[in-house]
Amino acid sequence: MATVELKNVRKIFGRNVIAVNRLDLEVKNEEFMVLVGPSGCGKSTTLRMIAGLENVDQGEIFIDRKLVNDIPPKDRDIAMVFQNYALYPHMTVYQNMAFGLRLRRYPQAEIDKRVREAAEILSISRFLNRKPKALSGGESQRVAVGRAIVRKPKVFLFDEPLSNLDAKLRVQMRAELSKLHARLKATIIYVTHDQLEAMTMGERIVVMRDGLLQQVDQPLHLYRRPANKFVGGFIGSPTMNFIEGTIEGTGNSLVLDEGVLKIQIPPRYYKSLSRYIGKPLIFGLRPEDVHYRNSVKSGQETAEISATVDVVEPIGNETFLHLIAGKSHLVASTTASAFPQLGEKIKLTLDLSRAHFFDKETELSLL
Ligand code: ATP
Repeated sequence: MATVELKNVRKIFGRNVIAVNRLDLEVKNEEFMVLVGPSGCGKSTTLRMIAGLENVDQGEIFIDRKLVNDIPPKDRDIAMVFQNYALYPHMTVYQNMAFGLRLRRYPQAEIDKRVREAAEILSISRFLNRKPKALSGGESQRVAVGRAIVRKPKVFLFDEPLSNLDAKLRVQMRAELSKLHARLKATIIYVTHDQLEAMTMGERIVVMRDGLLQQVDQPLHLYRRPANKFVGGFIGSPTMNFIEGTIEGTGNSLVLDEGVLKIQIPPRYYKSLSRYIGKPLIFGLRPEDVHYRNSVKSGQETAEISATVDVVEPIGNETFLHLIAGKSHLVASTTASAFPQLGEKIKLTLDLSRAHFFDKETELSLL
């Protein structure tokens, strides 16, 4: 059993840098939890407080229901894997992996068994006698993970472990770490700024911004039901389109008025939006819900708009169209094989069944 719980945790650097503010979080036993957010949002500081590498200024941290605020890192039964791997250059792979166990005075036979088992799991058995400088980035990464595994800790903490790897290796390591989690059945807290890494690996994701938790949820729930505009924009690539406008109409017919564009709103949103009549808000729609020649089910919940093509970005399996519609900029992702010319005026179909609406001031979702 290893749960991790943070209650009202706060960390202030110097006089006034609030790195983490009033953070409440419960990581379940054997859960793969990912902390994600832009640079400086406080995710590494959160991880370092759980590891005991930073003091907690306020609040409480529990590992396995035990208060650990005053327990030193070595007694917390956690293992941390860093971005720079932090391998000892003068030791072989074997010695690097065995080091933590030696310090804890494990018997030699047990150390040997654990190192060889971990090396087998990570396919690094053939490197055991090499020094780190004779390893590639991906291999060094595996050794760093191996060094954590041999300890059989209650909780694994990963701080951007894949960011030094090239794109292809990152995709491969992502899948390997997911498999490793399934095999070890360990509790993992994993920090990244890469939303794709978060979406593909996390069983649940914590989105942070400016030291504050924005939303905790399963990946697809975050994608489909972002709690606020920040989460809507941060999760998903290309990013969600946002159009500022005012809701006009009566209770029976509502229109989003952007100034130039006028978008008829489907009845399913009337209840949520009726109190916003006459008020400004932000409409959100993901690029894949802005259709250009893609088959979109014709129904009540679509709207047609015209737009001018500004930039065309073919990436192979799909093409991103940057468009000007009314006063707004939009991106559409299309799988159509023929794409339009720059400057061309085209028709788009918006799938409004997947629309989002946010309060202009608080940026909270209205749905
Ligand atoms: P990154 O992805 O860039 O590592 P992060 O989300 O992990 O970012 P943190 O490293 O946790 O962010 O930093 C949160 C805030 O605390 C930032 O504003 C950072 O400048 C500040 N900070 C972090 N460590 C210290 C420190 N030792 N002294 C002063 N300020 C710090």
